[in-house]
Amino acid sequence: MPGRNFLFVPGPTNIPERIRRAMDVPLEDHRASDFPAFVLPLLADLKKVFQTRDGHVFIFAASGTGGWEAAITNTLSPGDKVLQARFGQFSHLWAELCRRLGMQVETPWGEGVPLDRYAEILAADGAHAIKMVLVTHNETATGVTSDLAGVRRVLDDLGHPALIAVDGVSAIGSIDFRMDEWGIDLAVSGSQKGLMLPTGLGLVGASRKALAAMHSARCARSYFDFGEMLRMNADGWFPYTPAVTLLHGLRASIDMLLEEGLPQVFARHARYAEAVRKAVAAWGLELSARDPKWYSNTVSAIVVPDGIDAGAVVGNAYRRYNLSLGGGLGEVAGKVFRIGHLGDLNELMILSALAGTEMALRDSGIEVAPGSGVGAASEFLRETCVA
Ligand code: PLP
Repeated sequence: MPGRNFLFVPGPTNIPERIRRAMDVPLEDHRASDFPAFVLPLLADLKKVFQTRDGHVFIFAASGTGGWEAAITNTLSPGDKVLQARFGQFSHLWAELCRRLGMQVETPWGEGVPLDRYAEILAADGAHAIKMVLVTHNETATGVTSDLAGVRRVLDDLGHPALIAVDGVSAIGSIDFRMDEWGIDLAVSGSQKGLMLPTGLGLVGASRKALAAMHSARCARSYFDFGEMLRMNADGWFPYTPAVTLLHGLRASIDMLLEEGLPQVFARHARYAEAVRKAVAAWGLELSARDPKWYSNTVSAIVVPDGIDAGAVVGNAYRRYNLSLGGGLGEVAGKVFRIGHLGDLNELMILSALAGTEMALRDSGIEVAPGSGVGAASEFLRETCVA
């Protein structure tokens, strides 16, 4: 098809030209004497994106899933108890990864992280057997964002010492995430979402408490070992060949995020998400996240009417209009489709995606009024434009 594909899955996301150009460099010697002069400021500035001063952010050549594994194996021992609410495919998969690594996982089900249920379970754990509370900040499969500060409060109110580990794969760099202020011990992200890079980097922020836990953690680990990475990073090196090309992209990504300003980046995502929600309401459809307190500003999972296969919407959008939407994953396969609205986007890109979605909905037998969603979203964007 002529023209470009409209990439509106919730990751991978569009790569800005500036980042693509930054990665168009020859390969280089990662043991050259001037390499640390590139790495040390990169590591320091990456911490700003995670909003941590005290912690360290590890960069692995991996994806977000590798980051999950690094966070767990460096801080826990087989048999340890962890608490992880499941409310979609990614929270489910992280819990499964913990099980495979030998943890005992308690997995309450919820629409998002059920703070009351967490409080009950942790209050009943007077012996502090639960070593870690896992939180999927933004569940990409269902478009649900949970209250991280609330989880911190629950633990503090009970005086419970468990570590808090956060999956920020579809949150960090797009929606507010404050590692130090919210007392987050481990924060996992990947390069292909809010950081607007190709897939290939698994990023893990670790607090001092998490780094201390590393000394008693008995999970087997080698490639993802924090200890050796920390030692080498201190002087601007890596223990093995880093993904240098991606690191140049990361440099440009961090610069772009900090130049725009994190509050502005978060506000932009919130505004585009609201435009998408206006379109969904105008179509007479519902989000998988029913209560506004769960609304995600990076992805909207939209429920299709009974008797319709959400896969048809995704298929029509791609085949007929070159628009890539996300399908339903796991338990919501066929029931929802997803519009990703994160990363390098502007108003007209959002409206194009909504126009394509609207056409694909009609193609799939969902009677939405032509122009209704685009009209509602464009009016909202026009009225809230600050330029
Ligand atoms: N966690 C969340 C919230 C995700 O959205 C994803 C991927 O989409 C992952 C984890 C897994 O990351 P990756 O596919 O980079 O391994």
